[in-house]
Amino acid sequence: MSRNQELFERAQRAIPGGVNSPVRAFRSVGGTPRFIERAEGCRVWDADGQAYIDYVGSWGPAIAGHAHPAVIKAVQNAAVKGLSFGAPTAAEVEMAELLCEMLPSLDMVRLVSSGTEATMSAIRLARGFTGRDAIIKFEGCYHGHADSLLVKAGSGLLTFGNPSSGGVPADFAKHTLVLDYNNVAGLEEVFAARGSEIAAVIVEPVAGNMNLIKPTAEFLHALRRLCTAHGTVLIFDEVMTGFRVGPQGVQGLFGITPDLTTLGKVIGGGMPVGAFGGRRDIMEKIAPLGSVYQAGTLSGSPVAVAAGLASLRLTREPGFYETLSARTTELVDGLLAAARRHGVTFSAQSVGGMFGIYFSEQCPDSFASVTAGNTDAFNRFFHAMLEAGHYFAPSAFEAGFVSVAHTASDIAETVAEADAVFAAMKA
Ligand SMILES: *Cc1c(COP(=O)(O)O)cnc(C)c1O
Repeated sequence: MSRNQELFERAQRAIPGGVNSPVRAFRSVGGTPRFIERAEGCRVWDADGQAYIDYVGSWGPAIAGHAHPAVIKAVQNAAVKGLSFGAPTAAEVEMAELLCEMLPSLDMVRLVSSGTEATMSAIRLARGFTGRDAIIKFEGCYHGHADSLLVKAGSGLLTFGNPSSGGVPADFAKHTLVLDYNNVAGLEEVFAARGSEIAAVIVEPVAGNMNLIKPTAEFLHALRRLCTAHGTVLIFDEVMTGFRVGPQGVQGLFGITPDLTTLGKVIGGGMPVGAFGGRRDIMEKIAPLGSVYQAGTLSGSPVAVAAGLASLRLTREPGFYETLSARTTELVDGLLAAARRHGVTFSAQSVGGMFGIYFSEQCPDSFASVTAGNTDAFNRFFHAMLEAGHYFAPSAFEAGFVSVAHTASDIAETVAEADAVFAAMKA
């Protein structure tokens, strides 16, 4: 038995499903998850000593490559001074100032320890600020696992949602309206009917949790316009896209200023850091200034903040995003050409250092169109690539991630393997 299998068997006895976050269990692709022992640059090594070129990057944070010396050094330097104090530190001030400088929509920001905490807190804040209860989210967007966000669509456009998870009271779900991504008409209809009840709209401005789905500019501009018109707080959930699609996230790419932004993943550089921030008049409603309670024993952990600061500084080095986009584009173009050569139904696209691959004629633009793709073909591709040492996300409904540590020759290696896999799929 391989060490991966042995660990997975032990894991399943002690941990539900053998994992601490569901997608890691390989349920949607089948097979044995790889237990990772170490990582460096664009590669990870599993418990059996097999190396992989990694396109998950810890689901985004490893944007400068795994175990980057500057990040590791910063963590070590912080750790020897003590792990946490439950009192403010200079590093948190630096981190907050840096985030506000890098994202012009942030007047103020508060640090938390995960993306889930960031979105949950942003929604509470929006509700406290507006005095309204209802929120809008979009089908297929994931915003962490807070109760009011684990909700699926109700029976009609104007009906509130139903829980999509056990343990979520219907009474919570009924405050969440779930609409279709990129559907401007649906959005307009809902705002016309109930605009004055809606505290917030939360959106992944480029969606990355139903695979990569691009927004139309019209959709994002409609969100801004309708939220402004109805006094609704617009929350861009940039936990995945922040400092991943470009130096100012999706808001920078489209020139749209959200009222609140949630961050995570990249800003922790691999350590647990999340953040939410935005308009000063809204942020001043948080305790201790205002009535909206929010707190965290380990919020702003000095070790985690050190990793985040070091990582964010790396993204500000000249040419960082040019390199990141160039490598990601090479991967997407290479995969598209290989699939075309072998007549495999396939499409792919990228935004900055994030990409989507789809076994469908065209890149999908909604939850309905992405779920219509050929998941059997994806699963074959996934396993063949994994066997050959190329680690893609273990689900057809996840985005992929490239880092600046991926070289042109690493990408070429993956593309060459994909060419062979596509040839075998067609045979
Ligand atoms: C990952 C993610 C979250 C949740 O972050 P966690 O750190 O896993 O709690 C929220 N929103 C988006 C868009 C994400 O990609």
